[in-house]
Amino acid sequence: MPVSTGTRVLKCVDQVVSFTAGIAFDTIHFFNKYHPNPSFTPKWSDKPLLKSWQKSKPNLGWPRQTDSLCPGCVKEARERIIKGEQQYRTLITEKVGEIKAQIVERDGQVWMVKDCPIHGHFEDIMAIDSKFLAWIEKNFPGRDLPAHNDKDLHNHGSSTIRHGRGSVLTVDLTNRCNMMCDPCFMDANQVGFVHELGWEEITEILDNAMKIKPKRQMSVQFSGGEPTMSPYFVDAVRYARKLGYNSVQAATNGIEFAKSKEFCQR
Ligand code: SF4
Repeated sequence: MPVSTGTRVLKCVDQVVSFTAGIAFDTIHFFNKYHPNPSFTPKWSDKPLLKSWQKSKPNLGWPRQTDSLCPGCVKEARERIIKGEQQYRTLITEKVGEIKAQIVERDGQVWMVKDCPIHGHFEDIMAIDSKFLAWIEKNFPGRDLPAHNDKDLHNHGSSTIRHGRGSVLTVDLTNRCNMMCDPCFMDANQVGFVHELGWEEITEILDNAMKIKPKRQMSVQFSGGEPTMSPYFVDAVRYARKLGYNSVQAATNGIEFAKSKEFCQR
């Protein structure tokens, strides 16, 4: 369809306005560094919001080195912990399964390559379009507020979350399921053991998550396996609503809801 003169003019005006606004924004930011207004501390945080120029960024682009995991070492560590041959706390105190990986570009794609001294060489594709990933990285606005008051919740060793403002807490209530799907990323029903949270563990997790700051809005999603297989599913939903979670969700296949009107009404 031919483009009319009016449309062309509008596009030109749009480009000029966007370009001018970009320059004005960068200029204001530049001078703000030297005469900054005091940062605002919202009531959901004990620390002030960060100015854009105060936000740090990780090392981006490629080639670069990053921390990664050896899939073989992770599987073996999981088996040792399940058999009681390794303390689960070593996941916090040691770098279990961690190895260095290189992020590299090959033929317009971005790959992660890594070598484990025990299990050998691994390669995973990260992006099929390196230009698109570069664009995503370029638009990363920088790290958010440092997490604080969250020692009970965010103590995961080298995987500890250090920045953010509270969003969605995912609680895996059980690894049981009423299905056995091949591509299940949780291997629900397929690992030969049941891992299920007790009531005290559920309330502790939900209580701890409400204590952290910053916590702009905290939602919870009950997941699994199939969360409705947990005997505490309905009570957990009620408890989370009572604590004031912003929204309470369930990642469910819906079978239990479809089977019983009474279950839905609970
Ligand atoms: S958790 Fe979901 S994907 Fe996994 S077996 Fe159950 S229904 Fe299937």
